[in-house]
Amino acid sequence: MSTVREQVARVLRADACSGCGVCTILDAGLSMRLDDSGHLRPAVSGPADERSRAARIFKRACPGRQVVAKRPRGSTRHPLLGSYFGMWEAWAVDPEVRHRASSGGALTAIQGWLLASEAVTQLSTAAADRDRPVRTVPVRIVSKEEALAAAGSRYAPVAVGSLTTGDPAHAVTAKPCEVGAIRALSGGRFGGTPVLLSFFCAGTPSQHATERLIRDLGGPGPEEITDLWYRGRGWPGRFTAVFDGGEVSADYDESWGRALGPTTQWRCKICPDGVGESADIAAADSWESDERGYPTFDEREGRSALLARTERGLAIVLAAHEAGVIELRPLDPARLAQAQPLQTGRRQYLAARLWGARLGGRAVPRYRGFGLTRLSLAHPRLALRALRGTLRRVREARGPRRRGETP
Ligand SMILES: Cc1cc2nc3c(=O)[nH]c(=O)nc-3n(C[C@H](O)[C@H](O)[C@H](O)COP(=O)(O)OP(=O)(O)OC[C@H]3O[C@@H](n4cnc5c(N)ncnc54)[C@H](O)[C@@H]3O)c2cc1C
Ligand code: SF4
Repeated sequence: MSTVREQVARVLRADACSGCGVCTILDAGLSMRLDDSGHLRPAVSGPADERSRAARIFKRACPGRQVVAKRPRGSTRHPLLGSYFGMWEAWAVDPEVRHRASSGGALTAIQGWLLASEAVTQLSTAAADRDRPVRTVPVRIVSKEEALAAAGSRYAPVAVGSLTTGDPAHAVTAKPCEVGAIRALSGGRFGGTPVLLSFFCAGTPSQHATERLIRDLGGPGPEEITDLWYRGRGWPGRFTAVFDGGEVSADYDESWGRALGPTTQWRCKICPDGVGESADIAAADSWESDERGYPTFDEREGRSALLARTERGLAIVLAAHEAGVIELRPLDPARLAQAQPLQTGRRQYLAARLWGARLGGRAVPRYRGFGLTRLSLAHPRLALRALRGTLRRVREARGPRRRGETP
């Protein structure tokens, strides 16, 4: 079987890497670096140093190779939102957590409670780099206070998967591709499975987009930024970059909608699981919708949607509620699906886009158990349009075909 490095090279050639970082714990001679496009990719930093059975585990765990949908026994399956044991609208009871966090602070409140109650001894997640807050880095936290400091979404590359330990007394809060890879690792006898928390994810923007946005808003160079948050401190809150003598900021529509969101990497555009199916608990924005059914981003008190995806996750949500840490209200799956048009639209037509990509000569990861073909075939005309659009974009990205070259 090919080594981890050889398989990583294949994933990179297909542009199928999500930047999760899990390969760096299978081969310690790899580390994550920003590439020219501003996305994190594994790069050789030393001689090959593979764990035993690493190549076999990589094949199962790397989200650039394959992703398998989870259908735990006894759960309810929603074709677009995945499997769940419980679904609620939720928010942190502590007003400081609720205000500071991305939506309702449900994840930060649960993290703080897991650590304070010693249900877990440490948690890996993402936070602003202390020395260079314009960058986002993976961190290990051990207290409620550190959980609060890491609250909020960071729309930039970060490889939390590179901090995985395989210790069931640990927890991880990370993007769906990262928690999927971590769960697949433990299936590969890497160790136990940490408690896995995740969130709905529309994709990872380029690091360059953050720096460009600050410049466009009239801010200074990246090295002069002393604090930076993408949202939160309100719901959805404002992108804010602080520097000596001032700050620049932009609302959610301008920052995510126009500057950051359009720069997400290719692997995110063909992601089968933006909803955290492999997590024990997944959170999302519980947006209000307007009369046409589109989500609205008017400032208000934050509310998360919360999905318990495993029995372990259900026990944690109910215990955190019982402990007075989070507030829960029933949430109708149809309402959540309506508030998440990007997630539902991406999954609905993903099979068609994958066909288009393959026809354009691009290798794509293997996805199993998501029912993608059935979803696309339910609306054949729109699926055909998605196929053609992807085929055209893939061909444009390849440039004009030379004579004799096959697609
Ligand atoms: C790139 C990205 C895309 C998203 N796309 C969607 C979407 O399509 N739909 C939707 O409803 N919600 C999306 N979210 C999630 C949403 O912004 C909230 O995180 C979610 O509503 C949970 O809110 P909360 O208040 O409970 O989380 P919080 O209490 O604020 O906790 C968030 C946790 O996520 C961690 N985190 C933040 N950024 C990252 C990152 N880049 N990588 C790994 N961990 C991170 C933080 O460290 C913190 O632990 C996205 C978030 C990110 C980072
Ligand atoms: S998707 Fe993750 S595991 Fe696969 S090559 Fe990229 S960083 Fe490594």
